[in-house]
Amino acid sequence: MNPDHIQRFAIGDIQVAKVIDTLESFSPKAVYLGKDRDAFDPHLDWLQPHFVDADKGMLLSIHTFVVKTRHHTVLIDTCVGNHKRDAGFPQWNDRNGNYLAQLESAGCALEDVDYVFCTHMHIDHTGWNTRLRDGRWVPTFPNAKYLFNRREWESWNEAGAADNRPVLEQNIVPIIEAGQVEWVDNEWQMDDQLWLVPTPGHTPGHCSVALGSGHAEKAFITGDMVIHPVQIAEPHWHQRGDSDKQLAVATRSRFVEDYCDRDVLILGTHFNTPTGVYIVDQGGRRRIRF
Ligand SMILES: [Zn+2]
Repeated sequence: MNPDHIQRFAIGDIQVAKVIDTLESFSPKAVYLGKDRDAFDPHLDWLQPHFVDADKGMLLSIHTFVVKTRHHTVLIDTCVGNHKRDAGFPQWNDRNGNYLAQLESAGCALEDVDYVFCTHMHIDHTGWNTRLRDGRWVPTFPNAKYLFNRREWESWNEAGAADNRPVLEQNIVPIIEAGQVEWVDNEWQMDDQLWLVPTPGHTPGHCSVALGSGHAEKAFITGDMVIHPVQIAEPHWHQRGDSDKQLAVATRSRFVEDYCDRDVLILGTHFNTPTGVYIVDQGGRRRIRF
């Protein structure tokens, strides 16, 4: 285990560690409607080598942000997990990764976690909510309250969404049955250091997370409202996974404008290292610096 693998950020007196479950290269076609590898050509100068590989594949990191505030340890998103099945991504069936060891080397014991928040209820954000014990899915974090957004949960049930059913059954329902859920809404605030920001479109109940001090925002965790830095420049690209594509574009476009040239660190939930970026204006174009 190489602890150097753990990337760390200091946000005032909040400590954030990035713990990676998996890092993969995706074809742009698989992620965006009507975009092939050449769509990245106008952006290769600033996206390579960190975010786009030599074959113009998109590097997407699936990681947890371990947030230690003055009073609490909070996990934001819990990645893919081990031994999961039928979640629509064959490469994630029956995984056996070393995420829990990584978490420990980041200085986070399972018992230490006070809260788990999932930005939304897709496989790659809920996986480590649970782990397999004697053939049953049990909560991975025994002392944690899992903050589930009621709107997100209800929307999956309203929609019927059969394709996401295995995710709910493996990663969400066992937490409800264990009595470890704290139901929250879009306005939920833990305290003056951590609060939710509704960013609907990817899913109906999708929320990002703001970090700061005295309610002054210093960092922003995106969730899948933006999954790759190219969307800072091209917020109107349609992401296949967005459940409401118009709303997702509107939310993303507003986000890029709102956070441009501000002293708020953007922590990308799927951004490869360096992961934390600032949105900047470059001659009328939106870009990042890090
Ligand atoms: Zn995701």
